[in-house]
Parts: sequence; C-alpha cells; structure tokens
Amino acid sequence: MQQTTSSHWAPITKPRDVREQSNLTDYARACRAFDWGAARAELSGLPGGGLNIAYEAVDRHVAAGRGEVTALRWIDRHDQVTDISYADLAERTNRFANLLRTLGVGRGERVFTLLGRVPELYVAVLGTLKAGCVLAPLFSAFGPEPIRQRMRLGGAAVLVTTPALYWKKIAPIKDDLPGLRHVLLVNPDPLPGEATLAEQLAGSSPDFTVEPTSPQDMALLHFTSGTTGQPKAAVHVHEAVVAHHSTAKHALDLRAGDVFWCTADPGWVTGMSYGIIAPLTIGATVVSDEGEFDTRRWYRVLSEQKVTVWYTAPTALRMLMRHSADIAGEYDLSALRYVASVGEPLNPEAVIWGRDVLGLPVHDNWWQTETGAIMISNFRAEEVRPGSMGRPLPGVTAAVLRRGPDGRAQITHGKVREVAEPGEVGELALRPGWPSMFRGYLDEPARYAACFADGWYLTGDLARRDADGYYWFVGRADDVIKSAGHLVGPFEVESALMAHPAVAEAGVIGKPDPVAGELVKAFVSLRPGFEPTEQLRGELLAFGRRALGAVAPKEIAFDDALPHTRSGKVMRRLLKARELGTPEGDLSTLESA
Ligand code: ATP
Ligand code: MG
Repeated sequence: MQQTTSSHWAPITKPRDVREQSNLTDYARACRAFDWGAARAELSGLPGGGLNIAYEAVDRHVAAGRGEVTALRWIDRHDQVTDISYADLAERTNRFANLLRTLGVGRGERVFTLLGRVPELYVAVLGTLKAGCVLAPLFSAFGPEPIRQRMRLGGAAVLVTTPALYWKKIAPIKDDLPGLRHVLLVNPDPLPGEATLAEQLAGSSPDFTVEPTSPQDMALLHFTSGTTGQPKAAVHVHEAVVAHHSTAKHALDLRAGDVFWCTADPGWVTGMSYGIIAPLTIGATVVSDEGEFDTRRWYRVLSEQKVTVWYTAPTALRMLMRHSADIAGEYDLSALRYVASVGEPLNPEAVIWGRDVLGLPVHDNWWQTETGAIMISNFRAEEVRPGSMGRPLPGVTAAVLRRGPDGRAQITHGKVREVAEPGEVGELALRPGWPSMFRGYLDEPARYAACFADGWYLTGDLARRDADGYYWFVGRADDVIKSAGHLVGPFEVESALMAHPAVAEAGVIGKPDPVAGELVKAFVSLRPGFEPTEQLRGELLAFGRRALGAVAPKEIAFDDALPHTRSGKVMRRLLKARELGTPEGDLSTLESA
C-alpha cells in the first residue's frame, strides 16, 4: 500500500508564541496527569447527589454566580440576533421540565425533537434531561418514513416540532404512532384549538428541582448516520457529560468565555454533544445559526460574532475551499483561535487550506455516535499532521488490530492481536471504560454484543498508526478496495485527487473487475471555472497515477452532486449501488431525500 497520505504532507508545528499565549500543556503530560475520576470532579453533580447533564450545562453556572453570561446567541434566518443568558436558559428549561411533569410524562420516557436551530430546541433538550426523560433528536429535514421508523424504534411519548413540520411530516404517520401522547408545537401558529409551546411554558412554573438522575440513567438516544446501512439507536447515559466536558477542553481547546460555533445539525450526535452540551458545561457562549450554508454567510458569522473556536465538517470546509481565498480575505477572522473538524476523513488539502486562508490549521478528530464523544484528535497544543486524525485523547486507549479474511479484526479463540508494525492497516479498536461509551443499541442486544471482543470495542473502521502514535484513517471496513492485490481506502484516493486544483470533492468506490478483483473508480465534482472535458479526465487520471501508482483510479466520472448523508458524509455505498445497478438500500439519511 502506498503511503502517500502519511509522507506527502509536512506536519504543521505551531509557533511557540501560540503555545505560550494559550498556556497549553503538552500531550504526554496531559495523558499522564489524566484520570476520569478527576474529570468527573470538575463537574459538580446534583446538590442532593446524582448526575444530570442539564444541571451541569446550565444550573451549575447559575449557582456559581455566572447566570448573566450569554449561553446562547441565536441568529435567525433574517439575521436578527437574540442573546439568552445562562440564568434565562435555566428558567426556560425549568418551565419545560415542569410542563412535561404536568403532562404526566414520567422519568425515562422518550421525548423527540424535530426542529431546526431555534431556541426552543435548546430549551426542549435541556428541559427534557432535567425532567429525567430521554431525549432523541431527529433531523428536521427527514421525511415521514424515516421519522416514523425512528419514533417507533425509540418509543416516542412526546414530540416537539413546528406546525409546518407537523402537517408535512407527522400528520401522515400519526396513526402509526400509538405511543405518541403529546405533540408540543413551537410557533405562533398552532393546530386549531391547541396552545403553543410558548403559552404552555408561560403557564408553567419557573422553579424546578432537577430529577435526581444517576450517572447510569439513560439520557440520550442517538441514531447513527446510516452511512453503511440501516441506522441504529445508540443509548447514552448522563455520565456521558464527563466525557463531553473533558474532550471539549482537550480536543477543541474550549474554555469559559469562548464564543463557540458548531455547525453540525442538532439531529446528529455532534450537534447534540458539541453543539449544545459540551460548550455549555464549559461556560462558553454557543452561536446558533438558523440559516443555511452559504459561503459569505458563514464567513460573516465567524467575523461578526467573533467566533473563537469553530467546529465543523470536511464537507463544509470543502465547500468553502471551492471558492478562492479572496472571499475569506474580505472578513476579519482575527478572533478565531481554534478550528476542528469531524465526521469524515479530513483531506490534508483542507488542513493546509486552513493554515493558509484562516491562519490556523484544522484539527481533525475522530469519533462515532457509539463513542458519544471525541476519541482521537490532533491534540490542541501539538503539531497537526495533515491527513491524520491524531492521537487518542487523555483517558482513551486505542489500538489497531490485525485483520482476518473478512477485513475485520481477527478473533481466534476469543482473542485478538494488535498489529505489530507501524503503518500496518488493521481495525481500529478502543478499550471500553470512558463515560460516554454507548450502553447498547436499543432493542438489539446481539448487534451490540457483536461490537466487542477480548475486552475491545471494535469500531468497524480501518486505520494505521505511525511510529509516533498518530492514527491514519484508511476507510470503513466495508468500503476498503482490493485492487490487483493492493488494498486502498477511498480516503487516500480522494485526498490525492483533491490535491489537483480542479477537484472540489471526490467519492471513490471499488468496482468489480474480472482481472483486478476491483478497480478504483472516482466520482469527482469540480471547482468553479473548470469544465468536465475529456482532456481534464485524462489529466486527472495521470495526476492520480503519479500520486498513487498501482492504486490510482482507473475510471473517473464527473458528478456535480455527490450524494451526502445529512451529517455531511459522502455516501459511497450509494455511488456504488448506482454504478452496479444494485438496490440503493436505506436512503433515509440521504441529504436530498
Ligand atoms: P452508520 O454507523 O449508520 O453506518 P456512521 O458510521 O456514518 O453511520 P456516525 O456515528 O455519524 O455514523 O459516524 C461515525 C463514522 O464516521 C466513523 O466510524 C468513521 O467512519 C467516520 N468518521 C468520523 N470522524 C472521522 C474522521 N475524523 N476521519 C475519518 N472518518 C471519520
Ligand atoms: Mg457507524
């Protein structure tokens, strides 16, 4: 296998003054000093005992006299800005928790949200947790069928949504949701004869004693992105907040007083863990933009809100990169101190772009719905290795396990083996024990049990570790391509193609081939100003060959609308199904669905 991604790009070492200014500790020191007990002790716990995510995110700050700090800065789609303080958020979430009580919604019952980024979303999420109920977020762009599927699977008792979404998406499936007892409507335009959420909240008491949840009580239900198939419902407990808090400090360099913007949709685990919970536990100000992606809008938010820490995704960065650096140059981004990315492999090109255009390298980090929090990252203080997802965070033990014939970790008599050599590809595995580890797939114990072997959690992703302990993503075990005896992950090919100035984004699959087994086929979208000509195709094929040798793409198709999941991942399985003419499978999380 070629080592292009690990050798091609020079590491970005941060200048000394940056380290000193931000008073950062070094990776080894942070790992040595770390234990989860001490991380837990940084949170307060409930006054009467127990642990509750919402208390740590909101009430703790009010109790400590920080109630006047802005918790949420909401920018609506017309650019109106509304600030909500921690004290205000505490009161609103108390009212929501009281409303659930009044409606007879008991501890452990499931409350679903189907909302865009509006303040009521934050109130519903945190109010639900205060009441000891379980919160399950949905993407507001889901159609009726994926909503029905997930609400049935999760046993929804309450849904918080808008009248418009209700009529479009819930009314057609309502009869199929017998367990759904209450629909709370956010908007001045309720169903005939029903109160709005605002009226219901106004009529509820602003005082509430947080339900004494234990660290092991179920708190959140998250559906995975469905990149590889049918989505699963991962169960998370209140103790997860310890990991949200700790990883936000280590992987995002987040501190009290920061202005933090996480662009992930609140229907996805990132939008919940790092779009709501983690920054609030830290005492930061969370910027929430109701508007859609737009290059200028995003630069404007970064500049006008003086965002200091920005957490986004490769697909968003690639969209910004499509346009020349000149646009960025029109905005004052000097407040920005730290940029991180998650969800998909971050092409080295994007890390370099960050350094050149934003003045900061982008810190890639890796985690999953199942892990509940960031596990591996380019550590805040240290060099960033473009193309690498970084090293395990303090408190996280990772390994690369030797693969068997099915491409997953080989289990022999119940035992696994770590790979011996740096650079060797194997399945990425983690030692369970961190607080945000999922506690099950709802109602699927066998599927959950199959994720573990010999004391390891098997991630289903392939990676290699270099001699310095940095991890390099290769691909999902299902996606890896075997071509003429060579093994290659789509990411490596995509990143190599993205180094060409014409390429904005690429999706790579293995296409069955009688001679090679599989051949590498790339679908490529172009930057503005480039035309999909035969000449360009030839040039890209040659460019790929020079960078990748034997595993270069043999076929290139131009495709201006690569399919993405709602969480922003290229859906390679769909590219492959379309190529082969096989069934397209579960498309509920497809962006345009
Ligand atoms: P499903 O499990 O339903 O197929 P999914 O795995 O995409 O969907 P998520 O939990 O949202 O659902 O995504 C986690 C996966 O995303 C990881 O297992 C990995 O494949 C990919 N991923 C996340 N961050 C990174 C990263 N920094 N580099 C490479 N891949 C990443
Ligand atoms: Mg997954």
